[in-house]
Amino acid sequence: MPSVLSPLTDALGRPLRDLRLSVTDRCNLRCTYCMPAEVFGPDFAFLPKSELLSFEELERLARLFVRGGVQKLRLTGGEPLLRRGLPDLVARLSSIGGVQDIAMTTNGLLLPRLAADLKAAGLKRVTVSLDSLDPQVFGRMNGLGVQPDRVLDGIEAALTAGLGVKINTVVQRGVNEDSLGELWRALRGKALLRFIEFMDVGNHNGWNLSAVVPPGEVLARLGGNFTPVTANYPGEVATRYADDQGFEVGLIASVSAPFCGDCTRARLSAVGVLYTCLFATGGLDLRASLRAGASDDELYALLSERWHARTDRYSEERGELTRRSAQRPKVEMSHIGG
Ligand code: SAM
Ligand code: SF4
Ligand code: SF4
Repeated sequence: MPSVLSPLTDALGRPLRDLRLSVTDRCNLRCTYCMPAEVFGPDFAFLPKSELLSFEELERLARLFVRGGVQKLRLTGGEPLLRRGLPDLVARLSSIGGVQDIAMTTNGLLLPRLAADLKAAGLKRVTVSLDSLDPQVFGRMNGLGVQPDRVLDGIEAALTAGLGVKINTVVQRGVNEDSLGELWRALRGKALLRFIEFMDVGNHNGWNLSAVVPPGEVLARLGGNFTPVTANYPGEVATRYADDQGFEVGLIASVSAPFCGDCTRARLSAVGVLYTCLFATGGLDLRASLRAGASDDELYALLSERWHARTDRYSEERGELTRRSAQRPKVEMSHIGG
């Protein structure tokens, strides 16, 4: 069923417009800020396949979210490219009337193998994560010593396949702030680079406010003169700036300038739990209802009720909440994929 004209709105008047689908909890990297190797080690118990939503289940739930107003879908993980048969899922999602955009966030390592099939199946854009071009810095940050060339190969493969490409860089003070200029100069002509503030997601990344590098400091590290660029649409999470040559950069200041007022994103974990905020402590288990035989209308009623009741604005409340968050277990980034 196509998207309704009026999307569901939450308790703060925010429409439901975007859905992030996590398709696996596994990853072929161990980024220290997301899945640190000490926690996600060789004995870590990842989910068995039977626990993951099947492609049929993902498509069915996605259709219901589209009924509720979703126009954009984003595949994420863990590392989404590890999910076997991903182009088949993209083809299923592309067939849903009302879906205007299908994108994916990925570490890019498997793009050389998969980019062309994903494009043919209907994927429009990828956001590739790359934190540094310095082999040592990147190797340390990804926890496995993987070299940046491997990600660059993935970016090239995506561009060759005709996919739109953006690049996400998480900035951590004392970790990769010195290599931002190099990344910018090498990649600004290829794709939009977006620098993201290190966030206090999950429970294991040792976050603290002093490791967050605010936008002004990031721009200063890139060098040159930057002027602000008008947003493409209301609620665009990145604030964009252009340098003297017209190259644009995006800054995502989720910590220092939160954008909860425009947050239209729902997140479905790989096991079918609906989260209404990246920093949620709990969610709604749609898989349980689905596997217990709920009809489409029953599932739709559940998700509508949850979206109507949504009051999340964690980043705006962070100052006060961080004091409590030590006692408050949050969902892991690898479960809902950023
Ligand atoms: N594996 C894929 C990837 O790395 O692109 C998709 C999942 S990953 C969890 C999604 C995005 O979240 C990545 O761009 C990653 O850099 C970002 N991310 C993970 N942990 C973060 C943190 N603590 N602060 C800011 N961004 C984070
Ligand atoms: Fe894996 Fe992405 Fe998390 Fe890095 S950020 S550990 S690539 S899921
Ligand atoms: Fe949206 Fe939650 Fe992030 Fe605010 S903190 S922008 S509500 S996901």
